[in-house]
Amino acid sequence: MSDYKIKTTALMKEVMANYFKGLESGEKKIAWCTSVGPAELLRSFGFEVYFPENHGALLGATRTAMDHIPEAVKCGYSGHVCSYTTSDIGSFLKKDSPLQTHYGMKGVPKPDIIVYNTNQCREVEDWFSFYADHFQCPIEGIQPPRYLDEVTEDEVELVVKQFKRIIPACELVSGENFNMENLKKVLRLSKEATLLWQKVLKTSTAMNAPISFFDGTIHMGPIVVLRGTQVAKDYYTTLLAELEDNVANNRGFLPQATTRIFWEGMPIWGKLRMMSDLFTSSNSAVVASTYCSSWVFDQFDENDPWNSMARAYTEIFINRSEKAKMEVLKKWFKEYSIDGIVYHDSKTCFSNSNAKFGMPQRLSKETGVPSLVIEGDLCDLRFFSEGQSITKIETFLEQLEDNKMIAR
Ligand code: SF4
Repeated sequence: MSDYKIKTTALMKEVMANYFKGLESGEKKIAWCTSVGPAELLRSFGFEVYFPENHGALLGATRTAMDHIPEAVKCGYSGHVCSYTTSDIGSFLKKDSPLQTHYGMKGVPKPDIIVYNTNQCREVEDWFSFYADHFQCPIEGIQPPRYLDEVTEDEVELVVKQFKRIIPACELVSGENFNMENLKKVLRLSKEATLLWQKVLKTSTAMNAPISFFDGTIHMGPIVVLRGTQVAKDYYTTLLAELEDNVANNRGFLPQATTRIFWEGMPIWGKLRMMSDLFTSSNSAVVASTYCSSWVFDQFDENDPWNSMARAYTEIFINRSEKAKMEVLKKWFKEYSIDGIVYHDSKTCFSNSNAKFGMPQRLSKETGVPSLVIEGDLCDLRFFSEGQSITKIETFLEQLEDNKMIAR
């Protein structure tokens, strides 16, 4: 077993702990935001931004989600809808959160304003509305057009209007007037961090990849919760330096990898370690994913803030047509020298599961890259059969290796 470790992980833990502590300092008003919501706009008003999805991921990773889901089900939320939503609401109702045990917080921070963008799914609107009702606080939403092959100027114009509609509520709650210079500054920082994150992920185009998909799900914390800050930019500068040095010195997490895999869909948060060990024990490196790339917003432009934010947040992978998604995947297969793709068909996240309408078959036919679909869930492990998944993955990886041997 390799003793390869990413040393910057220690800094990441510190950065995340400081972020959570800051949420309770009382120094700033708190805005809740979806993970691909308008965080930059909120930060430009001086809000500290809290992301319930990050809490959902924590509930999944600590395997406490299943303790809380029944509580939300009792209130009328189906156990078959987004398990971030149900576990987060259940945890709130039970006043029991990993933020207490892991970060010494009292619980989730009380929102002064709640803002969402349905660019990822409609579920976030229902989820966030629960809290707006509970806390009796303002809630604002962006509802961009979905499933487009191409995002044109018409859509951008529409979404810009929706972004701007949020401003009066932000001004009222923050007590600050909108300031274009603040927005430009935050957007510049966000873009710088997001480009660094993109470079971090691309280090794994190296054949001896220095960061796996599973590592990526941990190191993406700051780009989700701290984008638009100097802290996030500094963090990814440090992480990138380490990974580039590893590439230059041929150090990677699985030097003997015989196959390279693309992970499509949500992580199975409660099984990250098990999955990581499963692939590495079969000499297979999971080097790229659509999930970790979701926080690359390379369209941001401080000189054209409204249009560029509207475009960047509307063009994200999850918000696009199947045709557009397939083009992106084809490009990544080549860039990362992918041998096979594993689709996680997540029971409770319809929007981020792309194996429901035959895409795996169509994409494999077009690219020659074999695919496997495993069923599971982001947080609710009752939908994940470990034994069955292990057998499917091991068989798939063996076949990939045999195919490569035959092709030699
Ligand atoms: S994208 Fe999926 S996991 Fe994320 S909030 Fe929406 S339904 Fe839940």
